[in-house]
Amino acid sequence: MKLKKILIISGIIPAILFIAIAAFLTVKTIQVKKGKIASDREYQDAKYPKLSFNGSVERLSILPLIDYFSDSPQLKTEPGVSYLIKADDTVILLDVGYNMKNEHPSPLLQNMKTLGVRISDISILYFSHMHPDHVGGMKNQQAGTFSLSNGKSDLPAVKVYSPEKLLPSPWDTVSEINISKDPFIIKKGVASMGAIPRHLFLMGKIYEQSIAVNIKGKGIVLIIGCGHPSIERIAERAAMLFNEPIYAIIGGLHYPVHGGRGKIGPIDPQYIIAKDAPPWSGLNDGDLDAGLHAIKKINPAKIVLSPHDTSDAAIKKFKEAFPGKLSVVKVGKEIIL
Ligand SMILES: [Zn+2]
Ligand SMILES: [Zn+2]
Repeated sequence: MKLKKILIISGIIPAILFIAIAAFLTVKTIQVKKGKIASDREYQDAKYPKLSFNGSVERLSILPLIDYFSDSPQLKTEPGVSYLIKADDTVILLDVGYNMKNEHPSPLLQNMKTLGVRISDISILYFSHMHPDHVGGMKNQQAGTFSLSNGKSDLPAVKVYSPEKLLPSPWDTVSEINISKDPFIIKKGVASMGAIPRHLFLMGKIYEQSIAVNIKGKGIVLIIGCGHPSIERIAERAAMLFNEPIYAIIGGLHYPVHGGRGKIGPIDPQYIIAKDAPPWSGLNDGDLDAGLHAIKKINPAKIVLSPHDTSDAAIKKFKEAFPGKLSVVKVGKEIIL
């Protein structure tokens, strides 16, 4: 009798689990199909006039403070992004990393200290999008907020730019939070390219925006957080907004082909959210080849690819496609353009 009960229960539990997973995947598949149609339409409908940079910058440097590889064992790494952008006298912090272990001081603050970055120099905080690896962790993403650490940082009262609703940080003082989906000029020679929507499997709809910097005599440097909209669409947006040629592409392009970073056991979250399609018809080498083809058409002089959301296999393909032009973002290794 007891054995019969055990057999029934041991059969019921896997059956319930199977039904729950199947129902979840069915709902998500329907959502991503509908979401893709809506996001594609929204993207196609977003028409903008040419945007003047109001001039150009003489000097641009980007110091990676958080990414997946580092230049030294003293620096912390994470599958997240935080870059310190210096465009002439303007200092912008692009995204605030992942802080996966909810540490205080966070890897970001620890790296700032190691690298001698003065947090008081930052005047603008710019968010590419609202994913955990860019807003300082899962807790922040779920609460619709951000933080540089799991405790108070010495961030001065900066201006914040976000493509979606963003609540004040529980720890950091800011002067104002600006939410804009449209392109705008941040400072002379520095533009925000406007949010591009994409409906991702699992995480749903996301808006991502990138920075464009016009360097005198060289052209535009695109600085990208995660690259969810695809390089094809980011380049298309740049062509819509600007007359200047693209000189360099820096940052994340989201190619977790053959395995993403930050796997949880057999689950590969970066791969699952890599595309506006279910994982079984998700990202493949064809998508990567299409991206490489689009970049070849742009023909930038430099590409510095973030490894935080691109696999080693994809990096290898990038290196083969752009010999002498491609390098990989490393924490602590300043990119001077
Ligand atoms: Zn992302
Ligand atoms: Zn990312």
